[in-house]
Formats: sequence, C-alpha cells, structure tokens
Amino acid sequence: MTDFQCRQCGVCCKQPGFVYLASGDAERLAAYLKMDIYSFTQAYCLLQDRRYLALKKNQDESCLFLKSKGCSAYDARPAQCREFPLRWKTEKSLKYCEGLKPR
Ligand code: SF4
Ligand code: SF4
Repeated sequence: MTDFQCRQCGVCCKQPGFVYLASGDAERLAAYLKMDIYSFTQAYCLLQDRRYLALKKNQDESCLFLKSKGCSAYDARPAQCREFPLRWKTEKSLKYCEGLKPR
C-alpha cells in the first residue's frame, strides 16, 4: 500500500497491548524529552516478561504521550509506532484505522 494517509485520529494510540521499545528507541525518546536514560525509563517504561521494555500506559489504555493534538513525542516515537500500519497491522486495526479504509 503506497497511498496510505494517516488521519491523525489517535485511535491506534489507545489500543490494548503495548508499544515495545526497539534498540535506540529509549535513548531517542529520552534525548527528545531532555531526560537521562534512567529517569526516562523510570517515568515512562515498564518491563514486560522481565526483559522487554514497553511504554507505560494510562488506565484507559491510551499512551502516556497521546495528547489532544496527537503524539507529543512524534518526532522521537518508537519504531513500532513508525512502522504502523505500513509494516504491520492487525485484523482489528483494519477496522479502526481510518487511514486504512477504502476511500
Ligand atoms: S488509527 Fe490510523 S489514521 Fe488514526 S492515527 Fe493511527 S495510523 Fe493514523
Ligand atoms: S508514542 Fe506516540 S505514536 Fe506511539 S502510541 Fe504513544 S502517542 Fe501513539
């Protein structure tokens, strides 16, 4: 798919599940937020299965970085976010993502 256009609805940032951090994601986000890596991981990350770093979420499942105008860390967002939905998507995302719906 080459004509995908994100509608900036933010629905993908409110889904159950986790945004896992790939190599370099935590360092990039920490630098963007002008935090040291330790403070960043304490504030924004949790450890899944004792070895995978993921972003913490709000109680309603939304991402801590999701604000009224969209992702507040957009330029430094994790690879998992950058790659959605062109490199990966789910059956559910085909239903909720406005940008994936036929026009
Ligand atoms: S759900 Fe789709 S259209 Fe909405 S913000 Fe996410 S990628 Fe963009
Ligand atoms: S980091 Fe940004 S793009 Fe990724 S889930 Fe959170 S709000 Fe959405």
